[in-house]
Amino acid sequence: DTARQKHLTFLEYSAGFDEEIRQRYALMNDLRLALAQRALHIELQPKVSLSDNRLIGFEALARWEREDGSRVRPDQFIPLAETAGLISELDQLVVELTCEAIKQLNAAGIDVPVAFNASSDELFDPDYFDTLIGTLKKYGVRPEQMNLEITESRAMESYEKIAPQLKRLIEMGMAVSIDDFGTGYSSLSHITHLAATTLKIDQVFVRQIGESPQAAQVVEMILRISERFGLNAVAEGVETLEQRDLLLAKGCRAGQGYLYSRPQRLEVLIDKLASNTVFTLPTPDEQG
Ligand code: C2E
Ligand code: MG
Ligand code: MG
Ligand code: MG
Repeated sequence: DTARQKHLTFLEYSAGFDEEIRQRYALMNDLRLALAQRALHIELQPKVSLSDNRLIGFEALARWEREDGSRVRPDQFIPLAETAGLISELDQLVVELTCEAIKQLNAAGIDVPVAFNASSDELFDPDYFDTLIGTLKKYGVRPEQMNLEITESRAMESYEKIAPQLKRLIEMGMAVSIDDFGTGYSSLSHITHLAATTLKIDQVFVRQIGESPQAAQVVEMILRISERFGLNAVAEGVETLEQRDLLLAKGCRAGQGYLYSRPQRLEVLIDKLASNTVFTLPTPDEQG
């Protein structure tokens, strides 16, 4: 009896396993199709000067809404794109959408850099940088209007190999940010090679800055490192006034997070920001 039960459990297990693989495969195919149809879009999240709530930039974030209106989250489809060999196509689409967004923002009188994310894998493609510069030229966007955010999808021991290309971008005027700094594989060697202009403090530290002395210390260390190497620092995931105040007190000057704005469609942001690029924050009372 127990043997029979075990057998059934195994069958159920393997059926579930097949189902998972089948779903993943279907999602992969949907993503391939969506990319071919350029059916992905971007939302922009403002970057803000912490001392005066002034808009200083945006980050473009990929969004995938399927035909039935359901959304797939980036932490699902980005890793999927990476394993399916679709990430460079996805990121190229996002660069193009970002260029289009910059032109529309400029037309509305808003001229701040817009960041886009690139998986570290594709930076090792020898054509990556020429393609990027070619795309900018095609759209008539200047390098200083963009900001490359490097997200790490694998160990970056061979970072030195792409450092000269990154330096070239920086010399052309483009900002280069190390995303989620303080976690994962981000290592000091990235910045000692000085192939970056900006460190983005990961949101796990920002979220805990008020409660965890360790998190607060990591934030302080990152700020000290950025000062030491002449880099900018941007705090990610700023959600409360308390976090903003602690960041300011530690010398962090820029941030991004729900306190200011969630990522939103360009049209919505243009409506809001065309006449006033200073954010109004909730009062401590309203925040509760
Ligand atoms: P990321 O580049 O570190 O982007 C920041 C993420 O934090 C975004 O998640 C954003 O929506 C979220 N966020 C911003 N402010 C807050 C906040 O105050 N609180 C909280 N809890 N979250 C906040 P999202 O859009 O889900 O993107 C997740 C990640 O997916 C990104 O992390 C980035 O690594 C990757 N990604 C997004 N778009 C692209 C893309 O076009 N290409 C590549 N290669 N990766 C992308
Ligand atoms: Mg990013
Ligand atoms: Mg990040
Ligand atoms: Mg991230």
